[in-house]
Amino acid sequence: MNALPGRLVLLGHPVEHSLSPVFQNAALRAAGIPLDYTACDVAPAELTAAVARLRTERAAGNVTVPHKERMAGLCDRLTAVARRAGAVNTFWTESANDATALVGDNTDVAGASAALTALLGDQPRGARVVLIGAGGAAAAVLCAFEQWPGNTVLVRNRHAERAVALVARFRHVAQCSDDARDLEDADIVINATSLGLHATDPLPCDPARLRDGVRVFDLVYRPGGTAWVQAARARGLEAADGIHMLVEQGAAAFERWFGITPDRGVMWRSFQG
Ligand code: NAP
Repeated sequence: MNALPGRLVLLGHPVEHSLSPVFQNAALRAAGIPLDYTACDVAPAELTAAVARLRTERAAGNVTVPHKERMAGLCDRLTAVARRAGAVNTFWTESANDATALVGDNTDVAGASAALTALLGDQPRGARVVLIGAGGAAAAVLCAFEQWPGNTVLVRNRHAERAVALVARFRHVAQCSDDARDLEDADIVINATSLGLHATDPLPCDPARLRDGVRVFDLVYRPGGTAWVQAARARGLEAADGIHMLVEQGAAAFERWFGITPDRGVMWRSFQG
């Protein structure tokens, strides 16, 4: 096992809705690791100072909305996947010759890959995919699709210029979707927007417009499933929310911090108690 970090934290704003402390603390207890995983609400203006403090404390942890992209700029070293995604959701420190370096990684990519493979029963092949959203989570989904050539990913976003900028970074796997009929022809539809976090949010798209047999993957999670996942299932479609991705990105982060595999069964059961 790796040397233990001084602290284990989740940086976000807000963070109180996050389930990460629930399943990470369950996994820590099961592994006998004497650390608590704590959620820290850090306003954007305080991020740089908070990260400087965490470096001196040899902290490790996760980063969530809205800090993932800025965190990439605050790390001393990025893994290849974090550099590709342009965002950091997992970090730790490494010390050598009295210097402490902050290392940033992105385990959302592994989480999205695992969740999509579980939903499809296999890796996507030759699929027409519509990806709704163009932020850091959408970039992680596109990194996942880079491992699976032969699919067509069409990106739609409320602010179209952000989709254009994202597609420019992933031109070999993605194109912009500028035709609403793309949704009607899709084999897989993915929500990577923040729509669904609040009960009053509109749906990312109307499941009635999707064809039979389409698979629906919502990166957002809510107890009991998101409204979009519920509506898709009511329409007879296979649909999954973001809880599987959450556990998988968390399990991959745990492996980076401690060098051991967490007990995923303990992580899943922690949601029931
Ligand atoms: P982000 O970089 O802030 O991007 C937010 C995205 O949501 C943008 O595409 C934005 O569109 C869109 N959006 C926000 N409000 C909208 C609205 N009212 N109507 C239409 N589109 C709207 O955030 P992110 O890091 O990509 O995260 C997005 C979501 O993914 C988060 O809510 C999080 O719950 C989820 N996520 C889940 C996991 C998991 O493990 N399950 C991991 C990562 C992220 P504009 O560009 O037009 O503003």
